[in-house]
This record gives sequence, C-alpha cells and structure tokens, in this order.
Amino acid sequence: MSESPTYPAPGAPEYRSAQFLTSAAKLSQCPGDSGWEVAFAGRSNAGKSSAINSLTGNKKLAKTSKTPGRTQLINFFSLSDSQRLVDLPGYGFAKVPQAVKREWTRVLESYLQQRECLRGLILLMDVRHPMQEFDRQMLSWGHSAGMPVHILLTKADKLKRGPANNTLLKVRKELDEYDGMVTVQLFSALKHQGHEELRAVLDAWLSDDSVYEDEELQEAP
Ligand code: GDP
Repeated sequence: MSESPTYPAPGAPEYRSAQFLTSAAKLSQCPGDSGWEVAFAGRSNAGKSSAINSLTGNKKLAKTSKTPGRTQLINFFSLSDSQRLVDLPGYGFAKVPQAVKREWTRVLESYLQQRECLRGLILLMDVRHPMQEFDRQMLSWGHSAGMPVHILLTKADKLKRGPANNTLLKVRKELDEYDGMVTVQLFSALKHQGHEELRAVLDAWLSDDSVYEDEELQEAP
C-alpha cells in the first residue's frame, strides 16, 4: 500500500465559509501545494472582485488594491482544509511600469504552470470586450499546462439578451481549437446571473477525486 493522500476526498465546497488565508508575491510564498485549488484571473476591472464576493456572499472578501504600480499579490481564500479559491493579480490599463508588468507575467506564468493542486482556471472578461491580449495569454498558458479553463463573460446585464447571447456564441466558436478544455458562460454579479452554472464548475473541480483513481491504478499489480 502506498501512503494515503494528505486529505480525504472533499465534498462540495461551502463557498460562504470562504476566509482570507494569505497573500503571496511569488511562488515560494504560496501555501503548501496540496489539496484542491481554483484560480480566478482577469484584466483589472473585468469584475473579478465582484464575482468572488458575490459567489462567497462576502462583500469585503476580495478587497483588491486598484492602485496602479502597487505590488500585486496572489490572494488565497480557504473554503476548507483542502479547498481554496485563488485571486490572481490582474493587469492595470495604462499606468503600470513595464518592469512591474513583466514581473506579474513571470509570477502568473510560473503559478499556472507549476502549481500541482491547481484544478482549473476561471477567466473573467467583460462581455463588451472579450478575448483581449491578456485573455489569450491566459488561455495559452492554461492550454500548455493541460488545465481546464471556464470563462465568465461578466457584466452581462450591460447588454440586452440578444447581443449578450451573440457574444457568447462568438466566443464559444473561437474556443473550438481547445478541444473542449475551455467552456464559457454569461455572468452578472449585479443581477446574480450565472451563479449556479459557475458553482457547478467549481464543485466539480474542487471535489474531483481522480487523484484517488490514479493512485488505485498505480497500485494495481
Ligand atoms: P476587478 O478589477 O476585476 O476586481 O473588478 P471589480 O469587481 O472591482 O469591478 C469593476 C467595476 O465593474 C466596478 O465598478 C463594479 O461595480 C462593476 N461591475 C462588476 N460586476 C458587475 C456586474 O455584474 N454588472 C455591472 N453592471 N457592473 C459590474
């Protein structure tokens, strides 16, 4: 018998019990690389803090600094001993110095590529400006790490239903090349739209027991 895993298979997470755990400016400052983690990424102003706060029912949870150029941190929120949500730093628009931007890029890339417990990435895009350079970069890193990505087209309440659905279809079509590893939905923190769909994705990723199946396979004679 090989050693038993660190944690028992977790049940569906209780998002409302989310608590701030720690911040990290580099990979070595992240919590131990065990359990299950899902990360949220998006350009600044995409609606990431609003989505995390609305999911967890805690208006103050993702209180991110909006000061351009300030050191950006990866924020960890625990849902249980073995399940975490992660708020990744976004890019500011204009005023961020190139050197700071390069450093964020390096930290983000190493987190996405090296973090073993990371089960998937939630990528947020304003429904009115989807698939910008940052978004394509994240999709590409996710793809090269073999990680599923779920896109939230945020602030869906800003468009009428027809145009919002057209954008959804257009983005979905663009994702054909990712062989089903990337999914997309409309979302509005303001109108509480799309929360069930998002929770279903998170539940699956954070409760995935494939780790055990792999171990059983390895143990077979
Ligand atoms: P972040 O920079 O990605 O964390 O974005 P925030 O969550 O701070 O949101 C940026 C701006 O968009 C704020 O003014 C929010 O009030 C607004 N916003 C966020 N989500 C929604 C939404 O679902 N609908 C609308 N209409 N505005 C939103």
